[in-house]
Amino acid sequence: MEFIDLNTHGEIGANSTLISIGSFNILVDSGLHPKKEGRDAMPNFSTINGREIDLILLTHCHLDHIGSLPIISKSHPNAPIVTSIPNLTLAPRMLRNSINVMKRQREELGLTELPLYQHRDIDHVKNQLLALAFEKAEVFYKGSDSVQIIVHPAGHVAGASAFEIIHKHQRIVFSGDVLFEAQRTLPGAHLPKGKIDVLFLETTRGATERDKSSNRETEVDRLIESINAILERNGSCLIPVFALGRMQEIFKIIQESINFGILKKAPIYSTGLGIDICNYFDKIHKKTGLIDFEHRILDQLKIKAPDPKLRPGKNIKNKGIYIVSSGMMVEHTPSYKLAASLLAHKENGICFVGYNDPDTPGGKLLASNESDSETFYFRAYDYLSPLRASIEQFDLSGHADRESLLNYAVQSDARAIVLNHGETAARKWFEEQLNEQVPQTKIINPNPCQPIGV
Ligand SMILES: [Zn+2]
Ligand SMILES: [Zn+2]
Repeated sequence: MEFIDLNTHGEIGANSTLISIGSFNILVDSGLHPKKEGRDAMPNFSTINGREIDLILLTHCHLDHIGSLPIISKSHPNAPIVTSIPNLTLAPRMLRNSINVMKRQREELGLTELPLYQHRDIDHVKNQLLALAFEKAEVFYKGSDSVQIIVHPAGHVAGASAFEIIHKHQRIVFSGDVLFEAQRTLPGAHLPKGKIDVLFLETTRGATERDKSSNRETEVDRLIESINAILERNGSCLIPVFALGRMQEIFKIIQESINFGILKKAPIYSTGLGIDICNYFDKIHKKTGLIDFEHRILDQLKIKAPDPKLRPGKNIKNKGIYIVSSGMMVEHTPSYKLAASLLAHKENGICFVGYNDPDTPGGKLLASNESDSETFYFRAYDYLSPLRASIEQFDLSGHADRESLLNYAVQSDARAIVLNHGETAARKWFEEQLNEQVPQTKIINPNPCQPIGV
């Protein structure tokens, strides 16, 4: 087989990989780079110009995996888009939101190429989606050749899938984003075991050592304690979350803690796409049972929309718990706006519950706090805020820790392991560990846009 990593800029980036096996060209994911804008955020599709794509596999609906799907699907209109059942509902919703975001960016950044696609392109994607039940093989034919595809649950977020591709005697596994531990809203990953020929492995947390004294449950306890402390000192608590997955997970944790009487009752505010996703989760829960989330949680928590009139530096009037996106406090999002109001007042607190890329405002705020900086600069408002609110981070990431991914990779006894979805330092850790633990395996940290034979 041969593959090309189309993620031009490396890192976590615009995920997209073309796998050529037998007579099949199979594209896995088609994302947008979360830190780039406009066409620069796209995978390098010009590398594969002139090739016919037979199948597109979609691991999950985060934008770094799905964001450019309408573009590639439009230029390969007959390729089925194979994915899990929840993604049938989630993919069009996430893409429609992406159009809205791009339209806003067109105004803010003056990028006339935006939006990169239209609603009719999403209608086309919808028509091409082909959902497979977890762990049931489906055979695809091309002339006298055939390939088997199996979708495996990958934890991480609702609908997240790992793919197993079987062609003749070759078994390829593409992990996608993985979490082995169960979350409140969905079970953990169940990846294929046993001998694999080629394993494509996510490496998000390769640069982070697991703190052995804590686990998911102790982190939940610590989060609840911190929220209580903020409420007790009459402050507001901001929890920046990803709209898809993390927001619903936090709602469940908050609801459970209030029900058990361990979290002080307080007004809860939320808004945006994540609230909409709650309705979709409810539908998927009722239809398939693949997600554990019901809409009535929102009613029980009496969730309200935050006051839209916020000013940097001016403390918010309505005190309470704010659970809003984006998880990395990207500029112009509700979490960024709220942080600009909250940060200067010492009674408030910000609780990060997911991965924060160091180049995002969330990552920069964490670093400023770590270095005891007394100020933080909100670039979008040209506002230098005193850094007085408490800043904490909780390890409730949707990604597997590096040790459990390494164990999985080692047991796979793969002929080759391809590293993806990670910053340079994260990939380097996996490269070193794997070279040491499975010296017979070829470890590939691919140069983008170059065909690599395995
Ligand atoms: Zn993801
Ligand atoms: Zn991802």
